[in-house]
Amino acid sequence: AKDLGRNRIRFYEAAMQADVQERLTLEQDLKNAAAEGQLAAFVQPQVNAAGVVVGGELLMRWNHPVRGSVPPARFIPVAEASGLILRMGDWMILQACETLARLQAAQRDLSISVNVSERQFRQDDFVERMRGVLVSTGANPAHLILEVTESLLIENLDDTIARMTELRRLGVRFSIDDFGTGYSSLAYLKRLPLYELKIDKSFVQDAPHDPNDTAIVQSIISVARHLNLHVVAEGVETRAQADFLVASQCNGLQGYLFGRPEPLQQWLARQLQ
Ligand code: C2E
Ligand code: CA
Ligand code: CA
Ligand code: CA
Repeated sequence: AKDLGRNRIRFYEAAMQADVQERLTLEQDLKNAAAEGQLAAFVQPQVNAAGVVVGGELLMRWNHPVRGSVPPARFIPVAEASGLILRMGDWMILQACETLARLQAAQRDLSISVNVSERQFRQDDFVERMRGVLVSTGANPAHLILEVTESLLIENLDDTIARMTELRRLGVRFSIDDFGTGYSSLAYLKRLPLYELKIDKSFVQDAPHDPNDTAIVQSIISVARHLNLHVVAEGVETRAQADFLVASQCNGLQGYLFGRPEPLQQWLARQLQ
């Protein structure tokens, strides 16, 4: 039994080492990825209760020359740990603003949501960068939605409120992503200049069959409505989920039922037709 335990530990250590090695390799490759055009912005549509497209969320994709498509769940944590997320995140914000400017020029009134990681948000010059991109692209900031997570909000709450308020003054809007999955306290919701709550797909997935998930989804919608916040559900895959969400007065829907993420330029061309 002792031998077995020792072997298990060895196996565990080897697996850990392989994982560290894998992360280092990914980090090395990620450094070149941007320069070599391997990163791409994809977009997934968001619809309103009537099923009309009202916007889209930008999602990053990495097409690795050898590994093929690497999922964000794999490379975003590496990008965050190494700091590469800063440049990558800036690039996504630029894509969002350029897209908004083009939609706007065609009088197409859509919103664009983009994910902002904690490290990016905390950059000393984040507000200045944001201002710079808005000015250089001419994008209407009222249609730009920055998605942030609950963990970001809770860390240094006062600092977060100050920074969000400055950004809000520029005209941009904030959405809380994966709402309900973090250490949320309803108390901070009223202190933050928020526009939207985004219900995590883990709750949407089993509604309306699972009574607990159904209750959670309805509670989030109710909180949002009482606080005058827009509320969007992600991960909507079935008609039954969509019908339930609309009946529960959810404002926006996003998920495979309405469209999978697709290359930004392809989507944009269709919106501009
Ligand atoms: P997220 O922000 O919660 O994005 C939603 C994820 O759900 C996306 O996964 C999307 O493709 C997926 N999804 C959409 N509809 C459905 C559906 O109907 N069913 C299911 N099962 N999944 C659906 P994706 O693109 O793999 O992204 C994973 C995560 O990576 C994102 O979660 C986000 O946290 C992060 N991420 C992606 N792009 C960026 C980025 O540019 N910056 C940052 N900081 N994070 C990003
Ligand atoms: Ca998101
Ligand atoms: Ca989510
Ligand atoms: Ca997420």
